[in-house]
Amino acid sequence: MICPNCKSDSTRKFSIIFEEGTYTQKYEAKISSSSGSADSVGEATGSSDLAKRCSPPEGCTPIYSFLVGFAIGAVLWIIVVININAILGHVLFIGIILFLIKCFRNERNFNKIDYPKIHEKWRKKWLCMKCGHEYMCEL
Ligand SMILES: [Zn+2]
Repeated sequence: MICPNCKSDSTRKFSIIFEEGTYTQKYEAKISSSSGSADSVGEATGSSDLAKRCSPPEGCTPIYSFLVGFAIGAVLWIIVVININAILGHVLFIGIILFLIKCFRNERNFNKIDYPKIHEKWRKKWLCMKCGHEYMCEL
C-alpha cells in the first residue's frame, strides 16, 4: 500500500497495528502484610501508544449508563422527598426514569445502526509509518 501523502510503501493497517501492540500478560504475586500473606493470580491487558491510537472505536454500554443514572436519580428523589416535597420528588423521579429510558434507547440504537458503520470505517483505515498520515483504503 502506498501512502497518498508521501508515497512511502511503509504503511500498515490500523487493525494489524492494534493487534500487534495489544498484549495480555498473566501474573502471580504474593502479597504480604503484618496480618499474613496471600497469593494473587490474574491477567493484565495493555497496549502500546501506537496501538491505542489505532484502537477500534468503542460502542456504548447502555445498561451501565442507565444504572448510574438510576442511582443518581434515586439519591435526588430521596433528597427532594425528605427536604422539599414528596409529590415533587415523585414527579422528578418519574421524569428521570423517562429520560433514562430515552437515553437507553438512543445508545442501543447507536450500537445497532451507527457503530457498525464507524467500525467498518476503522477497518479500512491505514497509517503511514513514515509520515504518520492516516487514510482509508478498501483492502
Ligand atoms: Zn506517508
